[in-house]
Amino acid sequence: MTQPHRARKRFGQNFLHDQAVINRIVTAIDPQPEQTLLEIGPGLGAITAPLLQAAGKVNAVEIDRDLIAQLPAAMAPHGELTLHEQDALKLNLKELLPDSDKVRVVGNLPYNISTPLLFHLCDQIDRIQDMHFMLQKEVVERMAAGPGSKTYGRLSVMLQYHCQVVPLFIVKAGAFNPPPKVESAIIRLKPHPTAPFQIGEYAQFQKLVTQCFSQRRKTLRNAVNGIATLEDLEAVGLDPTARPETLYGEDFGKLSHHLCNN
Ligand code: SAM
Repeated sequence: MTQPHRARKRFGQNFLHDQAVINRIVTAIDPQPEQTLLEIGPGLGAITAPLLQAAGKVNAVEIDRDLIAQLPAAMAPHGELTLHEQDALKLNLKELLPDSDKVRVVGNLPYNISTPLLFHLCDQIDRIQDMHFMLQKEVVERMAAGPGSKTYGRLSVMLQYHCQVVPLFIVKAGAFNPPPKVESAIIRLKPHPTAPFQIGEYAQFQKLVTQCFSQRRKTLRNAVNGIATLEDLEAVGLDPTARPETLYGEDFGKLSHHLCNN
């Protein structure tokens, strides 16, 4: 008999056990047989099994070798699981799933890598149909926040540039084994069919947003030091005395576009 798996902290392992929560997540995803599904971190298969039952096939990437050794046999009765031993932070959708144009990405994400993973997936957004993730509630709030809110920042602006961000519902710590110290939430990310506003070059936009939010207490004029001048701000109608956290994504886009074209 295989030993019960001991949750590993370093891999952010909090396994879902609440069947009502699992059903609610799978209903929100609404998997269909013809779709390409990719689960990040299937763990013991809490979400994988119902995904397989609904869609027939699931691809998954998992880093923990012990879980990789036992998951295929456990999932075999439910459908066809293709399991890849891989670090999700190195995931390349084009290489992993060369025959699929668009992929539906899902996962109860390891919280310790969630922000870099979201940025890594945004770099491959053209291959993604949509994403459904369980994350720390606080991260979901940051992703969905708007200007003026305390939680509004780089993550909000960058994700909202790529996707429509829809927080779905909160999941209490008791739904997991072991329970995490914080509450969690499910979020849906739907890539925009076309860019929502102009930004010039992506690298410029990214640099501007990153610098502005690393100095959020400064005025815009000081926050953009080394990237843009007072004249640049005035040319696009931005108030130099405003705080970066009051600007819309579109405002950063306008400035970035101007900088790329002047
Ligand atoms: N999906 C399962 C569930 O809901 O019960 C497990 C979720 S657990 C929060 C996170 C899962 O991601 C674990 O299975 C863990 O081993 C895996 N994981 C952690 N870091 C990873 C990485 N860098 N790449 C791929 N999988 C990772």
